[in-house]
Amino acid sequence: MIDRRQRTLARAARVYGRGLFHGKDVTLTLLPAPDYHGLVFQRVDLSARVLIPARVEYVVPQPRRTVLARLGAQVETVEHVLAALVGLQIDNCILQINGPECPNGDGSAQHFVEAIEAAGVVEQSAPAPLLDVSETVAVVDDGTGARWTARPADDDGLHIEYELCSPYPGCDRQSLSLTITPDSFVRELATARTFVRESEVQALRAVGLGRRTTPRDLLVFDASGNPIQNTLRRPDECVRHKILDCLGDFALAGGRVCGHFAGQRTGHRHNHELVRRIKDTQLGQRRRAA
Ligand SMILES: [Zn+2]
Repeated sequence: MIDRRQRTLARAARVYGRGLFHGKDVTLTLLPAPDYHGLVFQRVDLSARVLIPARVEYVVPQPRRTVLARLGAQVETVEHVLAALVGLQIDNCILQINGPECPNGDGSAQHFVEAIEAAGVVEQSAPAPLLDVSETVAVVDDGTGARWTARPADDDGLHIEYELCSPYPGCDRQSLSLTITPDSFVRELATARTFVRESEVQALRAVGLGRRTTPRDLLVFDASGNPIQNTLRRPDECVRHKILDCLGDFALAGGRVCGHFAGQRTGHRHNHELVRRIKDTQLGQRRRAA
């Protein structure tokens, strides 16, 4: 990946839909923003129009999704729209939303990609700063077997290799290695949908989540590993979605991340921890250099 300038949308892009967990109808409006603005959410349905930067400092731990909150305002399931923005190399954007959760679409990032591509993308004046992995960093969770290793790359690219090894049929063993560019993101990742097991859907419904969600809104696997009322877009759609989720969470570093990343069995909290660790090492380096 060569050095590039910061990028934003040419004009506003709108995405309508309902959230996966809470089922509220929402409009998400993506607006152009100036150099160094970053990706920043704003809840426009609340009287205090609080800005919530898409940064790991504002993560509120919640299962199965990434949630950001600041000064009493919260926005949930932010990972897929952030993946679309990072995947299309958009550094600056205001994400105005009139509800608590980003629209789900079909559970992938494709609806965001289509809206962004229809609006157009423009180059700005300043170079896009790199947040490179400067030393090897690992996140290991012995309890779940989740593991991330991030190491420096020779180039300025973002390289992700991911191994999904879950004990459940349908999404048990899949692996994929990819260098992320706008082309590879659109071609290989953007259409990969959220997946869940039927038993997990029942558990979520029991606590009041996902009540308006149907098997058409995401991939639901039955106990034999077959998608219910749905067909896979790729045999390894699940691992592609896992990488898409990682990309969305890496956006929380607040810059253009580069390095070699190798992940296994991770969830959002491991992705967030990896971002924190990378930011810590960068801070440490700056302190040592000062
Ligand atoms: Zn996801």
